[in-house]
Amino acid sequence: AAATPALDLEAEPSMDVILVGSSELSSPVPAATGRELIAYEVKVNQRNIEEICLCCGSFQVHTQHPLFEGGMCAPCKDKFLDALFLYDDDGYQSYCSICSSGGTLLICENPDCTRCYCFECVDILVGPGTSGKVHAMSNWVCFLCLPFSRSGLLQRRKKWRSHLKAFYDQESKSPVEMFETLPVWRRQPVRVLALFGDIKKELTSLGFLGSGSDQGRLKHLDDVTDVVRKDVEEWGPFDLLYGATPAPGHACDHPPAWYLFQFHRLLQYARPSGSLRPFFWMFVDHLMLNKEDQDLVCRFLEMEQATIPDVRGGVLQSAVRVWSNIPAIRSSRHSALPSEEELSGLAQNRQSSKLPAQRPTKLLKNCFLPLREYFKYFSTELTSSS
Ligand SMILES: [Zn+2]
Ligand SMILES: [Zn+2]
Ligand SMILES: [Zn+2]
Repeated sequence: AAATPALDLEAEPSMDVILVGSSELSSPVPAATGRELIAYEVKVNQRNIEEICLCCGSFQVHTQHPLFEGGMCAPCKDKFLDALFLYDDDGYQSYCSICSSGGTLLICENPDCTRCYCFECVDILVGPGTSGKVHAMSNWVCFLCLPFSRSGLLQRRKKWRSHLKAFYDQESKSPVEMFETLPVWRRQPVRVLALFGDIKKELTSLGFLGSGSDQGRLKHLDDVTDVVRKDVEEWGPFDLLYGATPAPGHACDHPPAWYLFQFHRLLQYARPSGSLRPFFWMFVDHLMLNKEDQDLVCRFLEMEQATIPDVRGGVLQSAVRVWSNIPAIRSSRHSALPSEEELSGLAQNRQSSKLPAQRPTKLLKNCFLPLREYFKYFSTELTSSS
């Protein structure tokens, strides 16, 4: 997919170094014992690379790496699944596409790719010193974007997108099946139906909606009482259905569960039938639903919620509960989750005091980033603001 022709590492002296520091997460990769031996095992001992964990060098292979030829042990598989579809605020993935480590990563400069690679993977699997050369290049494109499929020991899998889907469906405990990610030439502008809450600002700042007519579109409805299937079919088709209970500062004109029932009803209308095209939905609760209502949502939408807290200065400012089939939406990985008491405290505050009409949807921005693997995106503000 890259426009760059076959690229000789030595022949590209002039570029800017682009690094992404992954602020979130994990402890640094331990000095992967035995990983340096991968090359020796493959080249000298003639061991099949599929029998070695590409991420740590272990011989206890549990499955195959979905993107590159090589094995994967069980702990590395778990780490990989956790990191899959996690993005930083700059729109790039947070972890190495090979071994899922964080820290300082080399990023792919193909504008349609969001992948990153750690120095160690590049040096061990492509060749010693490679990370330094990549680092010194401008316009480096990654091992999934290069026109040739092999770099040193790193051999891109044929049909890696199908492998990735199969890997996710088989290994993850998520109740939702993953849609196969799309190569850039198949990505279309996203078509969104937003109920009760507008997410235009968020999707625009992520680059999914622009001003041009070909840059995605969003239809926003506050009242759906009279909307019938025919309406949705006429307005559609849609790729994303969003719905939410009223945000703080907005009037709640209905019993909280009403928002769920209407969302669920329109979901039936908007969901493509008998088609494999990627279709996503997200239902968000701004702490309006009581425990009983929440259980109802879990039953209707057939999954558990994720709680996304907004903690600033060590203080819990707000939180949202999210149900969605967008990959990688899950409860906060970094901070302790707020307790039910804290959440109901927030919920009471939001009712008694007239909170300013903030946009808690800001919390959701990163939840939409995995959609970059499915839909066209345009210029974004990601690098300048968050
Ligand atoms: Zn491993
Ligand atoms: Zn790595
Ligand atoms: Zn790339």
